[in-house]
Amino acid sequence: MPFRPHYTGLIENYRDRLPVSDDTKLISLGEGNTPLLRLNNIPAVLGKDVEIYIKYEGLNPTGSFKDRGMTMAVTKAVEEGSKAIICASTGNTSASAAAYAARAGIAAFVLIPEGKIALGKLAQGMMHGATVIQIKGNFDEGMQLVKDVAEHAPVTIVNSINPFRLQGQKTAAFEIVEELSRAPDFHCLPVGNAGNITAHWMGYSEYFDDGIIKARPKMVGYQADGSAPFMRGEMVDNPETVATAIRIGHPQSWDKAWKVKEESQGWFDECTDAQILAAQKLLAEHEGIFCEPASATSLAGAINDINSGKIPEGSMIVCTLTGHGLKDPDTAIKQSTSPMLTVDATLDAVRDAILNNMAD
Ligand SMILES: *Cc1c(COP(=O)(O)O)cnc(C)c1O
Repeated sequence: MPFRPHYTGLIENYRDRLPVSDDTKLISLGEGNTPLLRLNNIPAVLGKDVEIYIKYEGLNPTGSFKDRGMTMAVTKAVEEGSKAIICASTGNTSASAAAYAARAGIAAFVLIPEGKIALGKLAQGMMHGATVIQIKGNFDEGMQLVKDVAEHAPVTIVNSINPFRLQGQKTAAFEIVEELSRAPDFHCLPVGNAGNITAHWMGYSEYFDDGIIKARPKMVGYQADGSAPFMRGEMVDNPETVATAIRIGHPQSWDKAWKVKEESQGWFDECTDAQILAAQKLLAEHEGIFCEPASATSLAGAINDINSGKIPEGSMIVCTLTGHGLKDPDTAIKQSTSPMLTVDATLDAVRDAILNNMAD
């Protein structure tokens, strides 16, 4: 029988590229090593000759890329003797923080905007035993409160302002390069706090500086138009979008992300909520890939730019799908148009339901 080594997570995998020592106790849930899926059907739907790959980060242990950063942040917090972590979150950071804190046997405090977090994410935070603090405010207000309270309580902040988060997240770029044997021409991401686009650029740049790749991708960051500070060129005070994971008006990695845009010769752009939901549905119906709305922003934006020619035909594109579709069942069910039939429990009724709904 052929054997392959037991996969024990991204820190172990990229130990020599991450700030850990031989003595560091790793807090891991087997994160990273996510599929890079080539889209088989959507390019034909668009009628464009483009090679699009999806980095399916929703398949991390808690269902989002946040786990890549959290394994590093919690590992380092534990190494430094911390007994509690804290974050503000639109949902996924809290789910991840709660899980890794449970794994480490330390406490987690999570601040979330009341009523604006997807159901699956709330369930995760609660289930993993975090202290969930709902605030009557948005993410940006929660983030400020976390920064303030960390000066008055013995808690380690695990938002992406924690530099270990970005260290962990840069490994997604390593994985992509290893599978493609090169960097893509364009790497498209949804942008909230802009930590992830910054971390990917760090990863590509590290491989570039070491001569592993000859070119780096243009980094393209997409926001929802109701929550697009990078398009406005200034902070947005009341961000609104169906893509709750990127409902952020005061990005924490503001300066870093502008630098990524400049250095990579990429750009920022915005999508409407309708375009985001359409891209989410396109992936689900034509490729069998289910992501949450915020994640679909990367493909929605890429589609706009492919259609306009800004991303030319013949390009190789990677779109990061940041979180799993099961995170937000409410939005998915609300926008689904698939037939849901209720029929009598008889052979005739079920047969008719099938025959009447067969595609011609
Ligand atoms: C956190 C998150 C984002 C935004 O990432 P940033 O690093 O804040 O830009 C996008 N999509 C999902 C699903 C997220 O959880």
